[in-house]
Amino acid sequence: MAIETYISREKIDQRLEEIAAQINQDYAGQELYVVCVLRGSFIFCADLVRKIKVPVEIDFVAASSYGDAKESSGAVRIDLDVKKDITGRNVLLVEDIVDTGLTITYLNEIFEARHPKSLKLASLLYKPARLKHDVKIDYLAFEIEDNFVIGYGLDYAQKYRELPYIGIYSDD
Ligand code: 5GP
Repeated sequence: MAIETYISREKIDQRLEEIAAQINQDYAGQELYVVCVLRGSFIFCADLVRKIKVPVEIDFVAASSYGDAKESSGAVRIDLDVKKDITGRNVLLVEDIVDTGLTITYLNEIFEARHPKSLKLASLLYKPARLKHDVKIDYLAFEIEDNFVIGYGLDYAQKYRELPYIGIYSDD
C-alpha cells in the first residue's frame, strides 16, 4: 500500500489563513457557535478555530448514514448532539468533506429547525463529481477530484487520521 501526498501541510495552513480571515470579517463584532462534525473534521476544526479571532464556543455533533453499507441509503441519524440550545446563535458547521452531500443536508435541516440566528457551513474538502444533494458551502478550503483521501482527520477504516497532510491511499 502507498500514500501519496495530495495536499501538503503548508498548503492547508495557507488556505486556512484565508478562510479564517474571511470568517473574521464576516462575523466581526459577533460571536460564533462552532459545531465540529465528528470524527473527520476534528483536526480541521482545531486548526481553524485557532485562527479565528471572534469569540467562539465549540461543540460537537456526530452523525452516521445507515442502510446499504457502501452507498448511503438516504437515512442519517444523529449519534451525538450539541449540548446547548442554538436558538438565536451564529452557528458554523465544520465538516471534513462534502461527498454526496447527504450528511450535511440532513444536519442543515435539523439545525435550521432550531432557529439559529445564522447557519453557515465550512468544509475542508468538496468532491463535486459525487454530489447528489444541493449543498451551499460558505467557506471551502479545497475542491478535489473524485479520489478517496485520507489524513488530516480523514480515515481509512479508522486509520491515518493523524497524518498532518491530505493523502491519496492506494493498494499498490
Ligand atoms: P456525504 O454524506 O457527503 O456523502 O459523505 C460525508 C462523509 O463521507 C464524510 O464526512 C466522510 O466521513 C466520508 N467520506 C466521503 N468521501 C471521503 C473520502 O474521500 N475519504 C474519507 N476518508 N472519507 C470520505
